[in-house]
Amino acid sequence: MSFRVIVIGAGLGGLGLAQGLRRAGIEVAVYERDSALTSRRQGYRLHIDSHGRDALERLLPPHLLRVFGATAGLPDPRFTVLNHRLERVFIQADADPAAVSLAVDRLVLRQLLLAGIEDAVEFGKELRRYEIQCDGRVVAHFTDGSRAEGDVLVAADGVNSAVRHQYLSHARIVDTGVRQLYGAVPLTDRTRNLFDEDMFGVFTVITGPEGTYLGVAPVQFPVPPQRAGAMAGLGLLPVSDYMTCSFGARREWFADSADTLRAMNGTQLHAIMTAATGDWHPRVREIVANCVPDSLFALPLRTCVPIDPWPTTSVTLLGDAIHAMSPAAGSGACTALRDAARLTAALTDAAADDDPITALRAYETAMIDYGFAAVRAGAINGQRHLGQDPLP
Ligand SMILES: Cc1cc2nc3c(=O)[nH]c(=O)nc-3n(C[C@H](O)[C@H](O)[C@H](O)COP(=O)(O)OP(=O)(O)OC[C@H]3O[C@@H](n4cnc5c(N)ncnc54)[C@H](O)[C@@H]3O)c2cc1C
Repeated sequence: MSFRVIVIGAGLGGLGLAQGLRRAGIEVAVYERDSALTSRRQGYRLHIDSHGRDALERLLPPHLLRVFGATAGLPDPRFTVLNHRLERVFIQADADPAAVSLAVDRLVLRQLLLAGIEDAVEFGKELRRYEIQCDGRVVAHFTDGSRAEGDVLVAADGVNSAVRHQYLSHARIVDTGVRQLYGAVPLTDRTRNLFDEDMFGVFTVITGPEGTYLGVAPVQFPVPPQRAGAMAGLGLLPVSDYMTCSFGARREWFADSADTLRAMNGTQLHAIMTAATGDWHPRVREIVANCVPDSLFALPLRTCVPIDPWPTTSVTLLGDAIHAMSPAAGSGACTALRDAARLTAALTDAAADDDPITALRAYETAMIDYGFAAVRAGAINGQRHLGQDPLP
């Protein structure tokens, strides 16, 4: 019997699921609102833990996994807190030696997740609403008036999920109270010297007065992505080593609202960072001076509030659409990929037994458990290190 899965959103989770389903021989169609992978800035470095790495091993075919392995940086697993005079306040150097801690570039990973399944992904398709028919099949309606039908609809449409708004309208997304200005410093022979050895660990927070902070984290490609991609016949976009450089503070610290910050250009955001760090250690000022203004964008940090389990239907959710979490967890993407791997297994069972509800219930039971646990862990981490509000 034919079995068709509709996925809304071609982010990390949606594309990961599509790769898994394609490998399992299940028909899948992905609908993405943006016109292309590169049409919107979404961030730079992603920390990939053992859940993320294990999920990718199950989702990606071997030739793509090899490119992933060749381009994934392996920073020292230490996490460091320095003060704005660059004195060490805290270092967690004794991380579990068996733990996986990779530093990957988001766009490189997204290109790998799209490779080979381009025919299953339609860009420029924004979901408006869906309906579940009497026979359990689902119809997706798009803003351009078109529609698509499938046995199961998966919401992989991120933190502002249109599917979640319709399906679980009581689920809330809240402001954590922290705003972040996100950018990158290209790593060259000259700029490398601005960073202490500690700062090449997995993440370093430099704390300033009034709860401000600057976070830095390296992305160093063992093999340049363009070269690694070419070995597998892929034309990946060129990108060189960099340090992410993010300035953050509580919303009360900023003179402007989140909307005003979001509307600012890179030069304006750079001016805020420069002024805020004006009397910090000269090397921090140099780091900020080398942060490329054009790379900067503003981000209010948000989190979901965990909810109780809901009755299972032929509509399900994965990733930020259901468990958006503070980036202080460093595991939102990994959890989305973990969902994609689990859901691939569940949908494989569903296609074989012609019983999507039992399989989806098993997926949702597990996902609700580990997904909301990660949300809570992110909230605690964010409260401790970034000054976030506690979860309501
Ligand atoms: C600054 C920052 C740093 C982070 N660092 C890390 C990290 O180091 N490690 C980690 O594991 N996680 C990290 N995360 C979290 C991670 O980015 C997210 O958890 C992850 O992207 C979620 O993947 P997703 O597929 O669920 O959603 P997304 O990647 O957001 O994808 C959703 C997709 O759905 C599309 N879409 C939205 N609405 C519609 C619609 N109506 N119709 C069609 N398409 C739609 C969007 O355009 C988008 O492409 C970080 C997040 C931030 C903000």
